[in-house]
Amino acid sequence: MKTAKIIASLMLAICIIAVPSVVSKNVAAINASQVSSENKLTAKVEAGAYAAPTKTAAKSATMTAGESYEYISVYTGGDGVKWYLVTVGNARGWVCSSDVTVKGAAASDKMLTAKSAAGVYASPTKSSAKSASMVSGESYEYTSVYTGGDGVKWYLVAVPGARGWVCQSDVTVRASSSAETTKTTAKPTAKPTTTATTKPAVSATKSTLTAKSAAGVYAGPTKSAAKAASMTAGQSYEYTSVYTGGDGVKWYLVTVGNARGWVCASDIITEQESTLIARSAEGVYASPTKTAAKITSMSAGASYKYTSDYVGGDKVRWYLVSVGGKRGWVCSTDVITYDESVFTAKSAAAVYASPTKSAASVATMTSGAEYHYSSFYVGGDKVKWYLAEVGGKKGWVCSSDVKAKGEVFSGKAAYLTFDDGPSANTAKILDILDQYGVKATFFVIYRSGYENTYKQIVSRGHTLALHSYSHNYDTIYKSESAFYTDLAKLESYLKSTTGESPKILRFPGGSNNTVSRRGVMPALRSSVKSRGYLYYDWNVDSRDASEYRASESKIISSVRNGLGSKSQAVILMHDAPAKTTTVDALPEIITLLKQKGYTILPITESTPEVHFK
Ligand code: ZN
Repeated sequence: MKTAKIIASLMLAICIIAVPSVVSKNVAAINASQVSSENKLTAKVEAGAYAAPTKTAAKSATMTAGESYEYISVYTGGDGVKWYLVTVGNARGWVCSSDVTVKGAAASDKMLTAKSAAGVYASPTKSSAKSASMVSGESYEYTSVYTGGDGVKWYLVAVPGARGWVCQSDVTVRASSSAETTKTTAKPTAKPTTTATTKPAVSATKSTLTAKSAAGVYAGPTKSAAKAASMTAGQSYEYTSVYTGGDGVKWYLVTVGNARGWVCASDIITEQESTLIARSAEGVYASPTKTAAKITSMSAGASYKYTSDYVGGDKVRWYLVSVGGKRGWVCSTDVITYDESVFTAKSAAAVYASPTKSAASVATMTSGAEYHYSSFYVGGDKVKWYLAEVGGKKGWVCSSDVKAKGEVFSGKAAYLTFDDGPSANTAKILDILDQYGVKATFFVIYRSGYENTYKQIVSRGHTLALHSYSHNYDTIYKSESAFYTDLAKLESYLKSTTGESPKILRFPGGSNNTVSRRGVMPALRSSVKSRGYLYYDWNVDSRDASEYRASESKIISSVRNGLGSKSQAVILMHDAPAKTTTVDALPEIITLLKQKGYTILPITESTPEVHFK
């Protein structure tokens, strides 16, 4: 863990940022010659061009120091660092703003203003999917321009929750200086959150070290190199690079006075560095209390470095971070620390080049393996994606393919739950779920001959959960011990068949069932908790069990009526042998949930429990 933490800190020191969804995809489709040729940059040093806007991505080419290149897109990461997409030789890649001089710095701070509440599209055509709408009169920064075959210009902008293309006919475009840009985005009439994520930051986060003594600064990372200067004991310096020699000794590149050189790890103290990720666009405060002045806000999903932490009298931990060049305190409840940024792969799912399943796959996870993520991104469809390194490749992992530690979904969530299976209907349900790319929860009982179906529920990434072995109310609700004897039989069967030991349970008939209400139920409700189970009732009944075979339309309308304005909908359905109409109704139920803005999720141990009482 410690080594991993250090590696994470170093990676951050280099540059870790979230990659936007559409940028790489759309940009790749654009022919460089169709883009304005005014965008030029010059390499300050011999620096790399990377496959994605982060130095942890694969290096696709190297710029020649002093050489000029045309850039076709600009991207500002969550840490405020700008990246430019250039063509170097035959390769195309991202170069960091710190490695280049950009001709006419204002060229990258481009603003446009919406003439109306016009659409923001997934690609530069109004026939593509509309991902969001602009706010009439609001100003947005655009990072790329595309001129279609019809001569119409399109601009790539970020609006809250989405990134996409807006048409020239819907906006007023003007180039502005950095100062004007800041002024515009700070306009009091604008909603403060609107431009927060795209606001260019003045400086990237910097790392500091403190000299233990008046030790030397060397021309190269070895004490046998020429001494360029001496540090002052107790003085702090910023370092821009870290080098680990063959002997494992670290060296830091610093500027001391007018000299630049390397200082040895043994001569300095580095501030303890670690990373945290913003859960949402929460505040950064002048001191470790929410009653202090709010300095700025974090960007949801972005990584930040913290240099110290503080635990207040109320036992709440605060971290000192640098956000867009501003330093301030963030509350532990608003962030995800390195130890918490873990997910487990539910299946051998793909890792993608950008946060969409239509992007190229760069790696495959190992089912059951744990990975750390360095940032996350929530798309226009509210689906969360994690940026992680899998098998040495950096890429995006869909939240539906993993179980994230301590992750509580805060959006509008719907949970499709199926009781009393498996049966022949289960296989059909699994195919429909795959077709729509959603995961569900199966509260199973024991049925012989369906070994493969139990396994498929697990291998296809769904939640396998407990209902009972026999589903015989007379047996299971006779006594507390009878209930656990029956449950143990199911647990042992599932463990040997699938390797899983589910802790998620639904009582047959629910936790207020009439058979046991006056008997064993109150004791069971409390003892399942003490035995480490989580139990889930439901708050939307599809009524597919209200008669032997309810009509498809009755099932759909029951779900529609049951949803109301619920932000967490746990939908009761059945995959018992008779329930063929539930299978028929499922595609329309999924479509309905998506239309109503629900994210369809499987129940996990971090899903808030839904109880009748
Ligand atoms: Zn049941």
